[in-house]
Amino acid sequence: MKTIARSLSFVVAGLCFAVGLGYFTGRDVAAQQIAPLDVREIAPGVYAHQAPITAMDAASGGDISNNGFIVGDDAVAVIDTGGAPIIGERLKKAIEKITDKPIRYVINTTEHPDYIFGNAAFIGPDVTFVGHRNLPRSMAVRGPHYIQTLRRDMGEALIQGVKLIPPTMLVDIGKDRKLDLGHRIIDLRAWPMTATDCNLTVFDAKTKSLFAGDLVYLRHVPVVDGSILGWLEALPRLAAIPAQRVVPGHGPVGADWPQALGAEKAYLTKLTADLQGLLKRGADINEAAQTAAGSEAAKWKLFEVYNPRNATAAYAELEWK
Ligand SMILES: [Zn+2]
Repeated sequence: MKTIARSLSFVVAGLCFAVGLGYFTGRDVAAQQIAPLDVREIAPGVYAHQAPITAMDAASGGDISNNGFIVGDDAVAVIDTGGAPIIGERLKKAIEKITDKPIRYVINTTEHPDYIFGNAAFIGPDVTFVGHRNLPRSMAVRGPHYIQTLRRDMGEALIQGVKLIPPTMLVDIGKDRKLDLGHRIIDLRAWPMTATDCNLTVFDAKTKSLFAGDLVYLRHVPVVDGSILGWLEALPRLAAIPAQRVVPGHGPVGADWPQALGAEKAYLTKLTADLQGLLKRGADINEAAQTAAGSEAAKWKLFEVYNPRNATAAYAELEWK
């Protein structure tokens, strides 16, 4: 008797499950299962997700750099979308939990895959993608290579669905652009060659919150993929932005501004000074890669991965000066 009752309830449960599946078809089922990205309100209407400091691989699932969004009276602006379509989906889910205002802008602060690979989640007739004047070119030149490499490092499942979506609203160097989200104007600034050739910052004047992307690193060693001298030169102008807090590309979100620039400035300065010394005495590039900025090692995560690359790139840059 007990057995029959048990198998009956099993059948009933199975039926409900089948009916449920029929009701939420395909994408809906997937959408039901997507966990919203964990975000924190760092100032009224300003939300940020703090990603772990780790590498782009299968284990991290593409969640390696910070992102967030700003909510105005009329619309939402998303800032960066994560390193895989699923991260973008999860960010979108987090936004939908907080507001039903439409997402009108998706701003990419640079061309690195950890900031743009989640873009596909936001495609829609009323969504405008926004970026630095140089971003479309960088995406076109480097994007396919990123996809190829990361398919190998992260696995097909995470990369499948990545779309390179060049921005259609562009920001020029020297010409800040303002976006009105409804009683909330955000200011977009395009930077010259610094961390990369297409860095953009987003400043919310209302709460004095700055999204700095890869122009600001905390705990994660800075990555020089543009010009170390250009970056150092830009630091005072960056520090002059009247923000109170910053969402860096990597590391703790909501950090005090401009204090958050201190560690990065020390690292870039030390790396430059060491390389200039090595150049002066004719040291070769391998020695530079192994020794430059060695005294900074204990202060940063992923130092062994990126410092030799930074040293190599910056050595070549300084050699030409
Ligand atoms: Zn980054």
